[in-house]
Amino acid sequence: MTAALNRAIETRRLRREVKQSQEALQKYADELEQRVEERTADLKQALRAKDEFLALVSHELRTPVSVIFGNIELLNKLGGRLAKDDKKAAMTDLRREGRRLRRLVENILALARVEYGVANEPVPVSVGNIIRQQLDWHHQMYPERPIEVQFAHEIPPVVCDDFSLELVLGNLLANAEKYSPPGQPVHVSAEVNRRSVVVSVRDRGPGVPPEEADRIFAPFYRSENASGVKGMGIGLAVCKRLLEAYGGSVWLAPHEGGGSDFSFSLPLASEPLVPDLAID
Ligand code: ADP
Repeated sequence: MTAALNRAIETRRLRREVKQSQEALQKYADELEQRVEERTADLKQALRAKDEFLALVSHELRTPVSVIFGNIELLNKLGGRLAKDDKKAAMTDLRREGRRLRRLVENILALARVEYGVANEPVPVSVGNIIRQQLDWHHQMYPERPIEVQFAHEIPPVVCDDFSLELVLGNLLANAEKYSPPGQPVHVSAEVNRRSVVVSVRDRGPGVPPEEADRIFAPFYRSENASGVKGMGIGLAVCKRLLEAYGGSVWLAPHEGGGSDFSFSLPLASEPLVPDLAID
């Protein structure tokens, strides 16, 4: 009698365990299925984003390449017979589009590099020299754009590398150029703030809606205000990642009276400036 009772109890226990195991297995299978579905959706989204990005890249690269080839052909065929002004205009187009092409390619490469955590060796960099150099370029390419500059003659060096700082500043200036109406001034300033240098680029364009102030730093994000303006949506993401790799940051401050006020900071370098980078 006791043996029969024990068997019954044991059988019930085993059944319960089997049922619990089945339920646990089913739960695990459901979770697995859910995860596979999510991963598939993520992968599809990533593939869609990749396709869109490739389409955007080819479109963006094609324009400067066509202008460059068109002008080379023109200079090659008619170079000797072209009026001086036409020749100069063709050369300006060549330089501007060549530079735009280089910045596009550098942004794509920089995004890929920082994605894998590869940054250039940090060195002391003269912010003043890079600002002057970039403004000089900008003025040569867009002479109609008034630029107001405000920074002390002696800005101490920061931790970065020349290439990254040029790209960051070049991207912010290019955006100020693209997104603000012709003739409206762009204001560039730099100042020391505690242990860092803060550089600001302010334009008088339509600005960015406040709710998008963070999102515009995400790769491939383009605001509604950008429709009709060329771009790949990676310039600000590259700025953010490059600056963060050197302990800096970038932000968009609200600006009274409209326009965009982009600023970035980089830590001051403790080492002395290397001689060939010294400010004049
Ligand atoms: P892109 O300009 O190629 O679209 P960015 O990453 O440089 O890519 O900028 C992301 C988005 O931020 C732009 O599409 C635009 O909507 C907005 N933006 C950037 N700079 C400005 C600016 N100076 N004024 C207004 N909107 C801007």
